Amino acid sequence: MDRGYEVVIGLEVHVELKTATKIFCSCSTAFGAEPNTQVCPVCSGFPGALPVLNRQAVEYAIRTGLALNCEIAETCKFDRKNYFYPDLPRAYQISQYDQPICKQGYLDIDVDDVQKRIGITRAHLEEDAGKLIHQGSITTTTYSLVNLNRSGVPLMEIVSEPDMRSGAEARAYLEKLRSMMLFAGVSDCKMEEGSLRCDANVSVRPRGETKLGTRVEIKNLNSFRSLERAIEYEAQRQIEALEDGETIVQETRTWDEEKQVTRSMRSKEEAEDYRYFPDPDLPPVRIEREWVNRVRASMPEMPDQAQQRLVGEHGLSAYDAGLLTSTPETLKFFDEAVASYPDAKVVSNWMMGELSRLLNQNNMELKDAKIQPQHLTRMLQLMDKGTISGKMAKVVFEEIFSTGKTPDEIIKEKGMEQISDKDTLQKVIDEVVEANTKVVEDYKNGKEKAFGFLIGQIMKATRGQANPALVNELLREKLKKE
Ligand SMILES: [Zn+2]
Repeated sequence: MDRGYEVVIGLEVHVELKTATKIFCSCSTAFGAEPNTQVCPVCSGFPGALPVLNRQAVEYAIRTGLALNCEIAETCKFDRKNYFYPDLPRAYQISQYDQPICKQGYLDIDVDDVQKRIGITRAHLEEDAGKLIHQGSITTTTYSLVNLNRSGVPLMEIVSEPDMRSGAEARAYLEKLRSMMLFAGVSDCKMEEGSLRCDANVSVRPRGETKLGTRVEIKNLNSFRSLERAIEYEAQRQIEALEDGETIVQETRTWDEEKQVTRSMRSKEEAEDYRYFPDPDLPPVRIEREWVNRVRASMPEMPDQAQQRLVGEHGLSAYDAGLLTSTPETLKFFDEAVASYPDAKVVSNWMMGELSRLLNQNNMELKDAKIQPQHLTRMLQLMDKGTISGKMAKVVFEEIFSTGKTPDEIIKEKGMEQISDKDTLQKVIDEVVEANTKVVEDYKNGKEKAFGFLIGQIMKATRGQANPALVNELLREKLKKE
């Protein structure tokens, strides 16, 4: 793919902060309400309506900055970013230009066991715009509708350094950023609801070159997979263009999910096109160090620390620990399970195997699932006691997942208990041996396969409920005597 070229990627990520009300007015931020029911003169841009800054939004911005190892500014201010678009009734967005609330941070990513630090240039507060609903596609629509419920919802725009070199690295960055925001408790980061949005700046240059190539911004990246694919596609497109002797145009392109290509949207604006100037309605914000320290003291264990703990205390691999610390819910589930069933490797295997398979299959998140950590640990204990076999455990687990019933209830209801009673099994074994004299003969003549056949018959007769280890032992004994 590289043909002597290097891909350079920087990401701009917008995270919706989960305040109850908007950033400059008291309208609700709840998702999914009827269009234009959560609006007031401030967020719908009536002339003369004055914005008042939401303190909680600033506190979430501080948390975001601390999570991302940023410097938190002592003073920051708000500026007007001027542009016209029908989803922006004032024709300017209140944002932060030269004095953002957070700057110079980083986060660490892991791709194929190689750790890399990605710089964060800045993270600033701004308001979201409304949403346009086009009738049909954007290019063929005869009219569009405007919903201002989202207008004025607080956002953090987090800008990375151009430190990533592949689609996989960009994806790892966005995934890590998401888990940091979830752990910091500042956003629910739902890409499908637009509370986590990402634009990618992509350029290519000959390997060894230090100057950056002309960059193209890609929009409309709605999932981690589209981010990765769009970057790989765009890098390839640029390399081919350069090899054909063309020059790259600085522009904004959109990702076409259906055709899996990027398409040109418009030429890219420069900062000076926006005529930024300080918003005269909002005084500069002084952020007391005492406030920052208080927020710092209230930060929870973050994914990196948790990952180290899982490796150090429970002996898990860095990869497994990374997956278990991707959301606060997964980590909590693991910690609670291990508290009552200390074999961390077994817990981790069930979580990353069956549990994650069922979640994916049902397109669900752990926090919406009915299964509780104590369900899993009880099931593991029943397996250890020999009440159920490993094979039955999978069935029980699926049943817990879909019904939320306890393992004991399920085993009782389904009559799944494993048969570990010697007398009962002996009786079945006697019958099977008697009914298969030819096979027993084969076994005595050294055909080991015959043994497997007999086991199969016993399992069949007990509908798979016989304790396999015990059956094995009893059958060997029985055959010795034959
Ligand atoms: Zn409002």
